[in-house]
Amino acid sequence: PATLGVLGGGQLGRMFVHAAQRLGYFTAVLEPDPQSPAGQVSHHHIQTDYDDPAGLRQLAQLCQAITTEFENVPAQALQTLALTRPVAPGAAVVGIAQNRIEEKAHFTACADVSGVSCAPYAVIETRAQLQAVQEKRADLLPGILKTARMGYDGKGQIRVKTAGELAAAWAELGGVACVLEKMLPLTAECSVLVARGWDGRVVSFAPQRNVHVDGILAVTHAYEGNMPLDLANSARDAAVSIAQHLGYVGVLCVEFFVVDDGSPHGGLVVNEMAPRPHNSGHYTLDACDVSQFDLQVHAMAGLPLPQPRQHSPAIMLNLLGDVWLDGSGQLQEPDWRPVLSLPGTHLHLYGKLRALAGRKMGHLTITGPDVASVKTVARRAAGLLGLPGLDAI
Ligand code: ATP
Ligand code: MG
Ligand code: MG
Repeated sequence: PATLGVLGGGQLGRMFVHAAQRLGYFTAVLEPDPQSPAGQVSHHHIQTDYDDPAGLRQLAQLCQAITTEFENVPAQALQTLALTRPVAPGAAVVGIAQNRIEEKAHFTACADVSGVSCAPYAVIETRAQLQAVQEKRADLLPGILKTARMGYDGKGQIRVKTAGELAAAWAELGGVACVLEKMLPLTAECSVLVARGWDGRVVSFAPQRNVHVDGILAVTHAYEGNMPLDLANSARDAAVSIAQHLGYVGVLCVEFFVVDDGSPHGGLVVNEMAPRPHNSGHYTLDACDVSQFDLQVHAMAGLPLPQPRQHSPAIMLNLLGDVWLDGSGQLQEPDWRPVLSLPGTHLHLYGKLRALAGRKMGHLTITGPDVASVKTVARRAAGLLGLPGLDAI
């Protein structure tokens, strides 16, 4: 059988490997961590750094096609692999998604076609730019200063109210390249998963509504009526046009804000994109006939992309390491039995050996015959496990 390769060994890689194996592929994972979620379950585990030339050569020799599950993989590694093998998504688009400055420039460049803009922002890479923003961009305050690179789960972000706080925050982030974004009055957040093949054919999932707690995804609502239909359609169309404009190949997730702009349903603003399957799409494993990981396998292997169909309403609850910490701060595996005795619960654990606060250890998807029963079970499960975001279910 052919072998598919993945750079990065996290949970997204693990679920990709599972999907590839179901189709009969062998898999190879390049990941330095000896006990990574994806490395544990892959046929081949090349245990070395993402930019190790010998490791990349070995990966290319083994594999028919290669993808990445880790958005901060060195874009150069993808470029090296692409010299000899199909790589999806490509180095250029991953490079754009890795840098908020380039990402926002891309969103702005295709705003006419996508119909959505990003939040008002300014680039701060130098002390002179900082001063200019302090003097001339009072409209961006209160705002959020975000590092251009390497941020995730709300890390590398500081909320600022005044020009003085902005200067302090920039110093605290190390004076690296940043964007200052205006703080918007969000009424909701959603994301859209798009898959695009080498032939330019695109399929997509309906938008899922996401609830974040402390900057980390806590709850995803995936069912008809999770948001007003006009907004859902606009988000889906915008995500597709953003993928097309990038010439993207593979699965792309685009995150949106719904902003109170005085209109009945609010306005749509594009936040950021992830060049890979996404946490907010994990419900597709249990609630759709084709999952986001299936589509990633199909896209990179050059197989046709089926339009996925959701067969059940679903709510996904993220399981962070906090659930493993008992009252006295001791680590303890939660008792899953009460949760798993509830109807329609699907537990996914990522095989991480150490639980840490804020660390994504697994997720729980609840499916059911109708939205009301899914919500009832989700509330019970969240209560049993002491999960955040209970009031948002
Ligand atoms: P991810 O883990 O999704 O990659 P991230 O660290 O890249 O997250 P963002 O998506 O930029 O962070 O922001 C995290 C969360 O902070 C958002 O989902 C939203 O709840 C809030 N947020 C970010 N930017 C703004 C904004 N301009 N106005 C209001 N809220 C915001
Ligand atoms: Mg991000
Ligand atoms: Mg985000």
